[in-house]
Amino acid sequence: MAQIIDGKALAEELRGEIRERVENFKKERGKDIGLAVVLVGENQASKVYVRNKIKACEEVGIKSFSYHLPEETSEEQIISLVDELVASENVHGILVQLPLPKHIDEQKVLRRIPPAKDVDGFCAENVGNLAMNRETIVACTPYGVMKMLEKYGIDPKGKTAVVLGRSNIVGKPMAMLLLNADATVTVCHSKTKNLQQVCAGADILVVAIGKAKFVTADMVKEGAVVIDVGMDRDENGKLCGDVDFEHVKDKASLITPVPGGVGPMTITMLLYITVIAASRS
Ligand code: NAP
Repeated sequence: MAQIIDGKALAEELRGEIRERVENFKKERGKDIGLAVVLVGENQASKVYVRNKIKACEEVGIKSFSYHLPEETSEEQIISLVDELVASENVHGILVQLPLPKHIDEQKVLRRIPPAKDVDGFCAENVGNLAMNRETIVACTPYGVMKMLEKYGIDPKGKTAVVLGRSNIVGKPMAMLLLNADATVTVCHSKTKNLQQVCAGADILVVAIGKAKFVTADMVKEGAVVIDVGMDRDENGKLCGDVDFEHVKDKASLITPVPGGVGPMTITMLLYITVIAASRS
C-alpha cells in the first residue's frame, strides 16, 4: 500500500516556519505583514473561504484587512478600493475573492492588482514569468503540490509527469512548475484521447478535474506518485477527490488523501506567498 501524504501535518509544519518569518519581518521592518481580502456579495462558499483565509492569517500573525461589500457595489467602487489597497504600504498582498457578481468585469478588477501584490498568481505577468522560469508569484494550489513533493523527497527531474486538467488556476501552472523542475510533462483535458494509457505512463500523476473518483487503478502506473487536487462529493454526499483512493492506494507508492491532502496546503501556501511578497517589497 502507498505511503499517504499527510497534507495537514505538512501544512502545520509550514505554518510554524511562516510564523517565524512573520516575526522576523516585524523585527526588521517595524511593521506587520498585511493581506487584504475583498469579498463582494453573499456567495456562501466564498464567505467560508474568506473566513478561513482571515483565520489562517491571524494564526500566523499576518494582519488581514477584510472588506465585505454588498452585491450591488459598482465596478468603479470596487476598483477604487483595489486602487487604495495597491497604494497602501501596509498591504503586501491583495486577494479579490472570485466569482464577483455578474455585473462586474472580473478581469478589469484583477488587472488593477500589480504583479508584486498579486498573491493569487493570476496576472499575466506572473503567469508569464512562471512560463519563463523566472522569479514570480505562483498560484497557491500547484505551489503547495510542489512543496509536498519536495517534503516527501520526490524530485520531478527526469520523471514522466501527467497533469490531468488544464485550468488556469491549477492544471496549467502545475504543468509549468513540473516542467521547470525538469519533469517530462503531458497535460490532459476533456478532449484527450487514450486518457487511460497516457495516465498509466506517469511517474507523477496530478489530477485536477472536479470529477469524483474519476481516476481508477487501471489509469495508474505501479509505484506512481498520485496527487489528488479534486474536491468533490461522492454518491453519499461525502467529500472525496478525483481519484478512486481505495483502489489506487494499493498501486501507488505515494498518494494524497481527500480530505487531508492538497486542501490544507492551499491556504497555507497563500500565507507563505504573502510573506514572500512582503519580503520582496
Ligand atoms: P476546472 O476549471 O473546472 O477545470 C477542469 C479541468 O478538467 C478542465 O481542463 C477540463 O478539461 C478537465 N476535465 C474535465 N472533465 C474531464 C474528463 N472527463 N477527462 C479529462 N479532463 C477533464 O477545475 P479546477 O478549478 O482546475 O479544479 C479542479 C478540481 O480541483 C475541482 O474539484 C476543484 O474543486 C479542486 N480544487 C481544489 C483545490 C484545493 O485546494 N484542494 C484548489 C483548486 C481546485 P477542458 O479544459 O477540456 O474542459
